[in-house]
Amino acid sequence: MRSRYSAYALNIPEYIVETTHPASPQYTENKFAWKRSISQFSQNTTFQKLEVLDFKEKENLATVTFTCHILQNNSDASFTEKSYFELYKGKWLYSRGLLKEGHAPNMITSDEIKVLPLVYYDDQILRKKADPVHEITLEIKKLVEEMVETMDACSGIGLAAAQVHYSIRIFVIRTPIEKEDGKFDLGDVKVFINPLLSSPSEENWKASEGCLSIPTIRKEVERPKEITVEYTALDGTRQRERFSGWAARVIMHENDHLNGVLFIDRLSVEDKLELKPILKQLDDRIHDRGAL
Ligand code: ZN
Repeated sequence: MRSRYSAYALNIPEYIVETTHPASPQYTENKFAWKRSISQFSQNTTFQKLEVLDFKEKENLATVTFTCHILQNNSDASFTEKSYFELYKGKWLYSRGLLKEGHAPNMITSDEIKVLPLVYYDDQILRKKADPVHEITLEIKKLVEEMVETMDACSGIGLAAAQVHYSIRIFVIRTPIEKEDGKFDLGDVKVFINPLLSSPSEENWKASEGCLSIPTIRKEVERPKEITVEYTALDGTRQRERFSGWAARVIMHENDHLNGVLFIDRLSVEDKLELKPILKQLDDRIHDRGAL
């Protein structure tokens, strides 16, 4: 982290590009434009101090919480970030970060890293039909806790177990709270175990979707407006609920993951054709099959 701070301070954009994980939301295919924007940031910023608040490491994941004391246009633009790093081919690469303005030591939340490494397109586990959960063991409860931490670390609205390397029928969501402008805020966590979807409404609607396993890509997907879900909650009780709007959409997106289906499979023929080379590029980049 200190070396990335120095690279920003000394205006060495090449170092930032080289130490960014290929699946990071910040990764940009156009490296020229990317370096230029890093360089502009460096030139317009006075770097005063890097204050590392916390550092944790677990296997191939590390977190660094720091406050970056900076000035922009002579005013304080300091921010605190909890950054996630992943070990990739023997090198620690910046994966993503949660940001807050100013000095925010309260971003140190837990004593250990509970975030799990994500599975990215087109790993075969994303294409498998996941197995049912037979019993809610302590291991399952721990996995659910880690899935929620991982979803939150990525500012995601939903996450299925297959996306963190477990091919079992569980997904978690942050219940969307719909706003008047058609967008939503992230609400409470909801856990779905062995869900069964039924009675989709006849009315469909389209909205833009993304997926933590297919970073940087968003496309419009048509789905039913409402759906009924029968599922086992974390306390073992069987529940039945009807969902509509964004909640229904997120549930259907995550439930698709349990059946090896991705949102890109539900696109129009035109969108699929347009995405094909972009997905190939993404797959090559993340799995290092092409030239990096
Ligand atoms: Zn997804």
